[in-house]
Amino acid sequence: MAEKDINTRRGLMLVMSSPSGAGKTTLTRRLLADDTDVVMSISATTRPARPGEVNGQDYYFVSHERFHEMIETDELLEHAVVFDNRYGTPRGPVLEALQTGKDVIFDIDWQGTQQLMSSSRAIDLVRIFILPPSISALEKRLRTRGQDSDETVRKRMAKAESEISHWAEYDYVLVNDNLEKTYEDLKAIVRAERYRRERRPGMSIFVRKLMEERSKE
Ligand code: 5GP
Repeated sequence: MAEKDINTRRGLMLVMSSPSGAGKTTLTRRLLADDTDVVMSISATTRPARPGEVNGQDYYFVSHERFHEMIETDELLEHAVVFDNRYGTPRGPVLEALQTGKDVIFDIDWQGTQQLMSSSRAIDLVRIFILPPSISALEKRLRTRGQDSDETVRKRMAKAESEISHWAEYDYVLVNDNLEKTYEDLKAIVRAERYRRERRPGMSIFVRKLMEERSKE
């Protein structure tokens, strides 16, 4: 049996959730840069772009009308309201990437994670929750990244508490008190998850062949 067939596997749907400022974006970007088998799911949102954000790269920035249309035409795998804005995952690019054997990372909140969990792709989900080492560290990170006004930081801190309350709905929980270590742990999770039996359809053929060989001896 060709090695290619033995190693054929279902792509992972890697869901990363955390309160804003816990380091999720940094971790995700690093994994994308280091691992060519991983691609990012780019969400659609009705929130305005922040300085430096690029349409089609960070998000698809769309109008409320367009977002509504995406829901009506079933273009979204999941969607939710976060901080008074709508966010959703376009279905097409995700399914395409999974079909070509890629793993897909989702930076979505607990509401989206719950929706994916109740979809037909639940088997492919690997849910990872990133916690900050402390609430004060979280607030400091939000303030020093300088992207948000005081009012927004206050709102994000309030939302952080509700996001954290869903930590137990995830498969893995990482406390990001050391970026290097957290990144190593994240890579270890991805590596191990790729070897799960249920993601390796080629393996049953390989094992059958092994057994046939044995019975011929
Ligand atoms: P931000 O506005 O800071 O980029 O994102 C705010 C929150 O929205 C983050 O917690 C992020 O995970 C979540 N989010 C981003 N895109 C999506 C999406 O497509 N679906 C859901 N459910 N949440 C999302």
